[in-house]
Amino acid sequence: MADSIYAQGTAVWYDDKELGWTDGVVTSTEVNGKDVTITLSNERQGKPVVVRTSLDAIANNDRKLPPLRNAPEFDDVEDLASIPHLNEPSLLRVIQARYAQEKIYTFSGIVLVAVNPFTKVPLYGADAIKKYSGKSRENLEPHLFSIAEETYTAMRQTRRSQTVIISGESGAGKTESAKYIMRYLASVSERASGGGASTVERRILATNPILEAFGNAKTMRNDNSSRFGKYIQILFDESHTIVGARIQTYLLERARISSLQLVRGERTYHIFYQLVAGASAAEREPLSLNRPASEFSFLAGGSFDQDAEAKNFQTTKHALSTIGITDHQMTSVFTLLAGLLHLGNVEIRQYHTSPDAILDETEPSLITAMNLLGIDLKEFRKWTTQKFFAARGENIRSVRTVAQARSVRDGVAKFIYACIFDWLITKVNSRLETNESMTKEQAFIAVLDIYGFEHFERNSFEQFCINYANEKLQHQFTSHVFKIQQKEYASEDINWQSIEFSDNQPTIDLIEGRLGILSILDEESRLAAGADTTFIEKLNWQLLGSTGGKASANFRSTPDSFTVKHYAHSVEYDVEGFLEKNRATVPEEHLELILKSTNMFLRAVVETSINSGKRAMESRAPTPPPMMAASVPSTPRKMRPMSGIGVQNLVANLTNGLDRVHHGPKGGAGARKPTQCSIFRSSLKLLMDTLVQTDIHYIRCIKPNENREAWALDPALTLAQLRACGVLETVRISLSGYPNRKTYEEFCSRCVSFLTQ
Ligand code: ADP
Ligand code: MG
Repeated sequence: MADSIYAQGTAVWYDDKELGWTDGVVTSTEVNGKDVTITLSNERQGKPVVVRTSLDAIANNDRKLPPLRNAPEFDDVEDLASIPHLNEPSLLRVIQARYAQEKIYTFSGIVLVAVNPFTKVPLYGADAIKKYSGKSRENLEPHLFSIAEETYTAMRQTRRSQTVIISGESGAGKTESAKYIMRYLASVSERASGGGASTVERRILATNPILEAFGNAKTMRNDNSSRFGKYIQILFDESHTIVGARIQTYLLERARISSLQLVRGERTYHIFYQLVAGASAAEREPLSLNRPASEFSFLAGGSFDQDAEAKNFQTTKHALSTIGITDHQMTSVFTLLAGLLHLGNVEIRQYHTSPDAILDETEPSLITAMNLLGIDLKEFRKWTTQKFFAARGENIRSVRTVAQARSVRDGVAKFIYACIFDWLITKVNSRLETNESMTKEQAFIAVLDIYGFEHFERNSFEQFCINYANEKLQHQFTSHVFKIQQKEYASEDINWQSIEFSDNQPTIDLIEGRLGILSILDEESRLAAGADTTFIEKLNWQLLGSTGGKASANFRSTPDSFTVKHYAHSVEYDVEGFLEKNRATVPEEHLELILKSTNMFLRAVVETSINSGKRAMESRAPTPPPMMAASVPSTPRKMRPMSGIGVQNLVANLTNGLDRVHHGPKGGAGARKPTQCSIFRSSLKLLMDTLVQTDIHYIRCIKPNENREAWALDPALTLAQLRACGVLETVRISLSGYPNRKTYEEFCSRCVSFLTQ
């Protein structure tokens, strides 16, 4: 039978090294004992391509064999799982053919694949919402709304909470998709309540412009790139009406604040441009913003559309007030932002030819910045240009180099900005999750909009954390798909054998295990003398040395980088800056100055942020009651996965936290504030614990070309993403067991035709 799969006339794919996957047809097949020679219609150097293989290889579906191509009528299927031959080129063909017809959505079994159109498409209006509501996915074109509706129906029927995981690389369309889903849910909730948009629905939608203004920036990949991850839970009551929401954010990119660390052509957070473009004369005056934007170094000298940014500023302000931020608080936030802009302009010079830093007390930007931030100028100047450290029982003073002093200056700006962001999230949450919503909450529908797997030319701490998160999500995904398969086989009474799929648990252990990369990083970050170099030394010693190379299958290193073999790709991480980014704090003296600021708002913002970090470390998802096992129909229940956000907690933590800040042991940066990776790890754990208690739906966003061109699809780029985001993994899992349902019939008919031959 094996050779009949490649009988003459069989449509196949040929991997042309130059053209990629091209159409081919088998022109002849010869069997000689166990050896098989297949000749294709494709040519290489003027001669037909010949594939030499064996009956065994064919029977084992060897990867080197030309994949089978489906008949053209399968090019337009709505679900990839329904094509007879599931392989990479066949999947790509469908995605490509549909995209060419402006069909951007395609199901792949449980996953919805969304290809970015890079142009406005008329798919999301009120009519579309109406069309999809109450309908099951089989009856309509694949759509984001099919998934949104599925979550809503499932929640109503089972009372279980739901999560939509949206993944994909930067610029693929995750955030846009998340917004459409939120809007859909707000609409159907409106209908359920029989009224117009309620205050709480309007507030939830207002979080989008706020998060974007403060957390999005223009990058090379996306003009409106989210620089943080988010998990938004929309809370519903018994009558399926929205009663509140909770937002959890992950790892805001701090380096974006410093012009020194900004990639050329990229920008800092939108809000800064909005502020300088949109502030009225009266707002500008006290903030000393009466000068061209190009004079602010944090704005990277980039030109921007004054009118558009001014308009966006109004939108942001409107959203802030919708959520309940008072005018007074807004002014306080803008004052801090202006303070940061001036801080970025503080000129730190070099003392003659020495590398020593000097900062004049009369430096105008310094005066303005310290005024706005309420920080003691003399002290700030002193601690920025010099530091004291204990050595052999003595307190030794040393002058910082220009580079060090500038990095301290920017570090303070990054720190304050991150605190403002945390403060905003806390504020938004306190408006969205009220006591009333907590009593009424029956279940939630959540959207996870999180950065996809990243693999750049230079990869740093951020990529490491992002890829770690993706490993966790990938693991969750494969186990999920795996479980579904198991169930199906059991129900079809198929003699089920263990299916092999790439288990990424070893990589996860390598990262988060007891002696894994994260522990070593944290330990090193807590040591005053810890540095990137000592970090890599310990990594080597711990992961390669003492374990006798146990981890080496997934781990390699050089003196200044280490490589992790991720499920999607091996990634080399440059350790430079790892410790600084992980500590993400300011020198002890600066923190004390900030906490003694005469700007009460700054103090409150920093205190809130320190405590939100601590809360992230402390909060745990509730253990599900035993009846919550996956197969048992669930009963109504309450979950408080983001329990840390309660106000009482905050106050209690605040006092504890401040004690630690003031009286904590000196020297160790970690003593004051949890490190970034420990916060990230805890919030990820919390997320995973929350996810398992919800039904999960997957959307994989694909960026079809690098130029953001409308309706242009680069096959290699698309295929690489389908591979990285697990769409092909699902397919592979199906293939390594039995062909999927529809193919099953085909499979049998093939057996029959063979037997009757
Ligand atoms: P990501 O969050 O994955 O980085 P975004 O959601 O910000 O990507 O999308 C990047 C850009 O792509 C958007 O600013 C928009 O121009 C375009 N885009 C994304 N999704 C859609 C869509 N469904 N329709 C039209 N344009 C879209
Ligand atoms: Mg985004």
